[in-house]
Amino acid sequence: MSERLYYADSFLTAFDAVVTDVREVSRRDGESVWQLALNRTAFYPTSGGQPMDQGTLTAVARGGAALEVPVEQVEEDDQGQVWHFVRKPLTAGTEVRGQIDWERRFDHMQQHTGQHLLSAVFQKELQLPTVSFHLGESVSTIDLAGSVPARHSLERVERVVNQIIAEDRPVTVSHVARAEAETMLAAGVLRKLPEREGEIRLVTIADCDRNACGGTHVRSTGQIGGLHVRSVEKVSRGARVEFVCGLRAVRSARADLALLSEAAGALSVGAVDVPAAIARLLAESKSGAKERQHLREELASYHASRLAVEVPIEEGLRLVVRSWKDRDREYVKMLAARTAMAAPETVVILCAEEANPARVVMSRSLSLELDCGRMLREALAEMGLRGGGSPDLAQGEVPIDQVATLCSKLRESVRRTIAGTPAV
Ligand SMILES: [Zn+2]
Repeated sequence: MSERLYYADSFLTAFDAVVTDVREVSRRDGESVWQLALNRTAFYPTSGGQPMDQGTLTAVARGGAALEVPVEQVEEDDQGQVWHFVRKPLTAGTEVRGQIDWERRFDHMQQHTGQHLLSAVFQKELQLPTVSFHLGESVSTIDLAGSVPARHSLERVERVVNQIIAEDRPVTVSHVARAEAETMLAAGVLRKLPEREGEIRLVTIADCDRNACGGTHVRSTGQIGGLHVRSVEKVSRGARVEFVCGLRAVRSARADLALLSEAAGALSVGAVDVPAAIARLLAESKSGAKERQHLREELASYHASRLAVEVPIEEGLRLVVRSWKDRDREYVKMLAARTAMAAPETVVILCAEEANPARVVMSRSLSLELDCGRMLREALAEMGLRGGGSPDLAQGEVPIDQVATLCSKLRESVRRTIAGTPAV
């Protein structure tokens, strides 16, 4: 098993080691991916909610030529071995120099230590225990067992956390036997103890929190660099709190400000006036939509009376058949119902061809005993299509190139029915 150097020194950025094992695991982008085990490593493998480190391994040949291999992924297996994923198979026995991507690691240490502190303060201030932690690429979250805290409670927690950060309290690591850790847990001086045997690694924030943890941490709370609670939402098991620490907090504030500035620019107002400007726009859009609907209905009524006038009654029936490429389905439906109501002895077959399949709407005057639902259903069924509705209004869909066929089928069927059934 590799000696894990980060346990003793989480600020170690470079180290010398020897490759002890190598195996090919998979192929990515047409290249082989190899896993290397080292006798000692400062690379942190993904575990406990904290993502792995990245960096490089450099092997120097006897002639002095250096081969630098990027470490893309670091995982630990069930036996506790740490595996470094690389694209070059360094053979067992090769001496390497490991270099950790420090910017990435320090960021993880800030978020992770920030999580210890945040969980401790949620426990102390609101009696809300943390059940899980996730450190993401841009934000981190903890899940609390309990209901979503009120905004003022969240602000208090954030204030207390930042006070402790400003006090720059030491963060220290110690080791105790399992039995002793259990006694501490029972006495309430240890916040959490995972299921594992042997020696337990304790991480202590002075006068604040003690927690069993195998992760990497900063040396004092000041190095967390500030913590900002971004949001909280209800999840199935409790409340999920999103937070950022250190430079991430600065980056997220800058990104938020950029968004706000963009919104303010689009609205031609100052940042503080954005909410009022949006409220005004929403109100305008709502009343605009209402007015538009009113105008459409009015237009449909005029349109309906024109259609009724345009088509004369032949053999006791006014049969209006029309199709449009530039009218939407809702309008055509509205128009069909209004046309059938506008004049007696009228059957209306209207099509909206703005999309394929086209929408066909069929309607009739109340004075006619004719079942639009049944007629449309039967005509569509003959063409292998579906649709239907009530006796006075029916709808269906038909491919645009079959609209004419459907209309002539319906025409014929209406004429036949009317010829057999005198109007009431
Ligand atoms: Zn930790």
